[in-house]
Amino acid sequence: MIKKLGFIFGSYSKAEEILYLLHNLKEVVRQGFYESELGKVEIFCKDNHLHLVKSNFKVLLADEESSVYSNKGIRVPEKDKSLGMYFVYISKDEKKAWLAAYFELVRNDSELGLLLGYPKCCVDNFCKNFDEEKTNLEINSENIFTNVTKREQDLVLISHFPCSAECSKSIKIGKNNLELIKRYNKNRAEELINGLRN
Ligand SMILES: [Zn+2]
Repeated sequence: MIKKLGFIFGSYSKAEEILYLLHNLKEVVRQGFYESELGKVEIFCKDNHLHLVKSNFKVLLADEESSVYSNKGIRVPEKDKSLGMYFVYISKDEKKAWLAAYFELVRNDSELGLLLGYPKCCVDNFCKNFDEEKTNLEINSENIFTNVTKREQDLVLISHFPCSAECSKSIKIGKNNLELIKRYNKNRAEELINGLRN
């Protein structure tokens, strides 16, 4: 299942977020895709009764994975010819998918973060500390659940920057996510556990 989803969504981490969504561990997922990748994703969502809303802008990214975390990147209109990435918001609830797209459009990071299920402490921390100069809020973490430093290697258990390595709400999310992954693919769970130990 994770492998099949990985093929559609382009990475295991993205596939796992969809699994969290299907199992109600998340209400809305936000991911970035190039035009060429969108077709498969749209078909999957349709077949699985998931609502997908696509941003009406594209983002030119210097660094793809980090940008999805941190909102970094230059927005250009859809008709711009540059190769940009669309954001898509996927949910079982159509209203929530649209609302996420709206919050992103008006750059309401706080409401967007909460809608995506990020803990309030982490959302507040992000809003307070993120700016143009400081776009990477990752912290060093000895805890596999809050370690997001390996997300570009497709190893990560949460979808946000935790406010601290010991943020209990983030750890809880990470634990629930790992439990679900274990049920589907023991090898992948092992890979995450081993890879996320520093
Ligand atoms: Zn937190």
